[in-house]
Amino acid sequence: MSEQTQQFGSDNYSGICPEAWAAMAEANRGHERAYGEDSWTQRAADHFRRLFETDCEVFFAFNGTAANSLALAASCQSYHSVICAETAHVETDECGAPEFFSNGSKLLLARTVQGKLTPPAIREVALKRQDIHYPKPRVVTLTQATEVGTVYRPAEVRAISQVCRELGLSLHMDGARFANACAFLGCSPAELSWRAGVDVLCFGGTKNGMAVGEAILFFNKALAEDFDYRCKQAGQLASKMRYLSGPWVGMLENGAWLRHAGHANRCARLLAELVADVPGVELMFPVEANGVFLQLSETAIRRLTDWGWRFYTFIGAGGARFMCSWDTEEARVRELAADIRRAMA
Ligand SMILES: *Cc1c(COP(=O)(O)O)cnc(C)c1O
Repeated sequence: MSEQTQQFGSDNYSGICPEAWAAMAEANRGHERAYGEDSWTQRAADHFRRLFETDCEVFFAFNGTAANSLALAASCQSYHSVICAETAHVETDECGAPEFFSNGSKLLLARTVQGKLTPPAIREVALKRQDIHYPKPRVVTLTQATEVGTVYRPAEVRAISQVCRELGLSLHMDGARFANACAFLGCSPAELSWRAGVDVLCFGGTKNGMAVGEAILFFNKALAEDFDYRCKQAGQLASKMRYLSGPWVGMLENGAWLRHAGHANRCARLLAELVADVPGVELMFPVEANGVFLQLSETAIRRLTDWGWRFYTFIGAGGARFMCSWDTEEARVRELAADIRRAMA
């Protein structure tokens, strides 16, 4: 099986979507000012402010690990702590970067229900200790969509932000798949972020058809103070910033960000439907975004791997994870479903 064959290992296995690619080519014409002083960065930031219907502060980082870590560091002193899900990317997949960039702020793990934090779980962790010997809780981070492919409803985010306000915590959202969440709920980006009480959002582009470049949106502008210095010090200030920001113009100006996410979500739903009646296959979580988590037999996992399928078995809560992308072909989803059926027989 050639490497060009579509796989379901991750949504970042896919390439760059035409809209981002075209904007990159367009941005490549002539000279522009450097370090974010260019017209593309201005345009991209304005698009974000229009899309989110608010005057937020916009920054760009090369990847999600940097975006999350720096946004969390901006909310914390070194003696603070960050409340996150036990399955959160910041805990399991960022190699300690949030702790590193915040000079030691500790991550405190909270239990989850279908990958989601809940107000009682946050309260439990935040109020467990209030003495001088324990790192002081300062921020809650949510992943939208979650690492197990579920999606927080606006009311759930609002309920969490209420607890945050009550306890003096700020609210960060890891939106590596924020577009997939918007596509699933059909609600506006504003409704799902600042109107629900989110202070800072890391809006992912890479998993939705871009090459690089995650946007960091501060709705609470006080948290953005000196954030440009933080990015620069962390090696995240692109000198040719237009190549990070320009593709966002292509993604945002005609709604490609939402179309691509909607397509990936539909492919995931199709896969789940096609294997729903396969004996022994269990759907581990509701399919709300672009991921499908299946409980398969060990034999089936071995067979699928032997037949050339690539997928992860260690992300989120175990099981086999299949991710769909902006360019996933329906025929390939059907092939996978048929092989899952054959492998389980
Ligand atoms: C992919 C991903 C990120 C970003 O990861 P990078 O590899 O650093 O770009 C962040 N959060 C979640 C939930 C992700 O899936």
